[in-house]
Amino acid sequence: MPVDYHIHTRLCGHAEGELEEYVSQARARGLEEMGFSDHLPLYHLEAGDGRRRRYAMDLDELDGYVREVERLAAGARAPVIRLGIEADYIPGREADLERLLRAYPFDYVIGSVHFIDDWAFDDPLYVEEYSRRDLDRLYERYFGLVAGAAATGLFDIIGHVDLIKKFGFFPAGDLEGLYAGTAVLLARAGVAVEVSTAGLRKPVGEIYPGKRLLSHCRQAGVPVTLGSDAHAPRQVAMDYAQALDLLAAVGYDQVAVFRQRKKTLRSIQPGSGR
Ligand code: ZN
Ligand code: FE
Ligand code: FE
Ligand code: ZN
Repeated sequence: MPVDYHIHTRLCGHAEGELEEYVSQARARGLEEMGFSDHLPLYHLEAGDGRRRRYAMDLDELDGYVREVERLAAGARAPVIRLGIEADYIPGREADLERLLRAYPFDYVIGSVHFIDDWAFDDPLYVEEYSRRDLDRLYERYFGLVAGAAATGLFDIIGHVDLIKKFGFFPAGDLEGLYAGTAVLLARAGVAVEVSTAGLRKPVGEIYPGKRLLSHCRQAGVPVTLGSDAHAPRQVAMDYAQALDLLAAVGYDQVAVFRQRKKTLRSIQPGSGR
């Protein structure tokens, strides 16, 4: 089993379990490498905004998070533990983000789009907003933000790259052009794309990204990582057999791994994850 780079902790306010339990689960699943990537404090929201605690740790908890992951990473037992973070991409706030990221020795940064303007579109609380939207335009807007995130150069990995499908809303029109264009922009930016099993646990019931988008990523030469987006210890490396099948089906035989924000490619062992 290769890696799980998308793992949260109870610090974000909507995950459960101790960090050690996530590590034990990773060991039990036979992961070679894991990385914590809890939500970076929502640097773009006002201090009094209740969503700050609903979605992420507070700014004054970030030091403790980094220290706790570093302490675990210093342990000698498998798996290798990396220090990551999942950061929101908010257009216009790149300088604030860069300042925050520079202050810590992250091994990798996952860039995620969870907001379209002020709409937290992946929060079940606000799902009714989809029915008010033109889905073709919504998808174009979302993937525009994804390409924007990639182009900042602030992220090593794009998280759940087609998160906009989470609740199963798809435009009637053909998405091939949008997917192909997005893949080219991701390749040009040099970011990796996360293959995330979290989508299997959501209403859409499929991996992020779906097979068509992942095929375009493969054609464009975009590297991939693997993640479960675990918010509970039992979710670490969950459903990885399906992720590895999908990777094989579109022709990926390597995953990117990161240390001190340097990427290397590692071969996927055939038959791993079973
Ligand atoms: Zn989360
Ligand atoms: Fe996310
Ligand atoms: Fe996450
Ligand atoms: Zn996530």
